[in-house]
Amino acid sequence: MSLQPRIIPPGATLGVLGGGQLGRMFAIAARRLGYRIHVFCPETDAPAAPVADRVFVAPFKDLGAVREFARSVDVVTFEFENVPSATSDACAEVVPVRPAGRVLHITQQRLREKGFLQDHGFPVTPFRAIRSLADLESATRDLGLPGVLKTASFGYDGKGQRTLRSANEIQEAFAGLEGTEGIYEAFVDFTQEVSVVGARTMDGRFEAFPVFENVHANHILDVTVCPARIAPSLEAAARDLSRGILEALDVVGLLTVELFVARDSRLIVNELAPRTHNSGHLTLDACVTCQFEQQVRAVCGLPLGSTELTAPAAAMANLLGDVWKAGEPRWERALANPRVKLHLYGKANPRPGRKMGHLTATAANPEDAIAAVREARSSL
Ligand code: AMP
Repeated sequence: MSLQPRIIPPGATLGVLGGGQLGRMFAIAARRLGYRIHVFCPETDAPAAPVADRVFVAPFKDLGAVREFARSVDVVTFEFENVPSATSDACAEVVPVRPAGRVLHITQQRLREKGFLQDHGFPVTPFRAIRSLADLESATRDLGLPGVLKTASFGYDGKGQRTLRSANEIQEAFAGLEGTEGIYEAFVDFTQEVSVVGARTMDGRFEAFPVFENVHANHILDVTVCPARIAPSLEAAARDLSRGILEALDVVGLLTVELFVARDSRLIVNELAPRTHNSGHLTLDACVTCQFEQQVRAVCGLPLGSTELTAPAAAMANLLGDVWKAGEPRWERALANPRVKLHLYGKANPRPGRKMGHLTATAANPEDAIAAVREARSSL
């Protein structure tokens, strides 16, 4: 028997759980490498569907359909982590699932995720589990105010989250959990939010992209810039943290670490996502290998690609449904700057707050890259 881990070569079929824009861009990258793509998702009009070879439309809980999907592919990966454990377990009975269901299980619940990080010595803000009003009262006493109360499960883009600033808000905030489990976190006084997208193969090879600096608006990622405007020592520390976390979780595939840079220059892990990430979209236009191709390489046991930037700096601006409020945007205006690239996800219904696409630009420095994507977006 060969000691080499088995490679899943181009021509094989890759399965993706979830059919959103991350699945769409993964499918496009995989097809470029000569793979076939099968998507499993509950929606009939998923962004990944038009670029997939086959789409299985069924609820994640329909394990019969899940098994049929798994039997049709050579490996299963994710573009969405809030998939029931039973779904990834059913796939794992048939084919390799990368990252493994255990990684999903830990990262889809904030208490498990923060507990895992803390137990393995990674820096997190102090937190408490909230199951009763008394829990929240004692958590705010122990960890102080302000603090952030979040639902423990299924939160994203700031949904199910609020900042508590005074004891008067405790009762109402607890009621907002509507009986679900919560987590109360000590407030982090941060100067920047950054993220690291790391990839790891079955035999432990690791590559991280340069650190991304992220600016949010209304809890949703607004603009990402790379390189992050942080000290080189922090850049190295953030990439080391990413490697340590992927190793501790034994990730095969991609995992994104979202971090705060605290005012005292400490790095604090906010969240993990066991997949590609919105902040990594600029890699499509500004890195030797994009995050989606890296996911293909990692889950197929191929050598990882270079994560180097191909320009001195790059920025990405999200296009939310709000951009459509005065009708179809004038795309030619954004593209008037020849360094600006447009990516649209093929979603029909531009609801406010819904991620419809993004713009990227490369430039000589981070400030010019940010200015270019912001100007392009406001010209729409
Ligand atoms: P999350 O849903 O955990 O990614 O949080 C969404 C956003 O809320 C983050 O990107 C931060 O801007 C803010 N936030 C979350 N947790 C904290 C915290 N403990 N302290 C300060 N700000 C936070």
